[in-house]
Amino acid sequence: VLCLSQSFDFYYFVQQCDSRQGCCYPETGKPDEDFSIHGLWPNYNDGTYPSSCDLRNSFDESKISDLISRLEKDWPTLACPSGDGLKFWGHEWSKHGTCAESVLDQHSYFQKALDLKGKANLLQALETAGIRPEDGKQYSLESIKDAIELALGVNTFIDCNVDARRNHQLYQVYLCVDSSASNFIECPVLPHGRSCGSKIEFPSFGSDSTHDEL
Ligand code: 5GP
Ligand code: 5GP
Repeated sequence: VLCLSQSFDFYYFVQQCDSRQGCCYPETGKPDEDFSIHGLWPNYNDGTYPSSCDLRNSFDESKISDLISRLEKDWPTLACPSGDGLKFWGHEWSKHGTCAESVLDQHSYFQKALDLKGKANLLQALETAGIRPEDGKQYSLESIKDAIELALGVNTFIDCNVDARRNHQLYQVYLCVDSSASNFIECPVLPHGRSCGSKIEFPSFGSDSTHDEL
């Protein structure tokens, strides 16, 4: 029997700020003023990644019923129109989670992502460096990266988007995680993302100025 040990090299653990123009809050309510999870994505060291690896292994809510309240809090859907999260989690499971099923079953996949969010504690890492969400205030991209790298001891990648006033703002933070989904590691390769300016805003979570619908 051929032993396929592991079908990917590491994960990107991607957290998002609730700062896109026109986010919609989930039906379950306004999320916390904090980063939230976008996904835990298996990746190869050469920068490519597997996707939708096993469409027969479909998302099964009953396997994660004990995690739903934590998922609603830490992995809310911010897309429009508002949803209850199940569609977003199901999408992430089918596209990315099924590519890690040799290592993590569906329950462990979601559990690990929730644990990683607590471990990263990005808001605290930034706060320690005096970096707080505040509309209109600019921070250097380097200072944001440095704060996260100092707190977690590994490199990070920052993805930006543009607010209604065309300022570049913090959108997503990528961290690399070992294949057991337990430890942050130095990224073997950095993703291609939307570029940030050298100065960016860290917008307040859910501020009216960055939302045109709730
Ligand atoms: P975007 O083009 O918005 O950066 O990415 C769209 C989607 O493609 C992401 O939500 C994610 O599902 C997937 N994706 C983009 N870049 C990467 C990557 O570097 N690694 C992995 N595993 N998935 C990615
Ligand atoms: P990815 O970019 O991970 O492949 O896919 C994201 C998909 O999930 C998109 O179809 C997007 O509309 C949906 N989605 C639902 N909620 C969210 C959210 O809060 N953030 C992001 N980035 N996508 C979401």
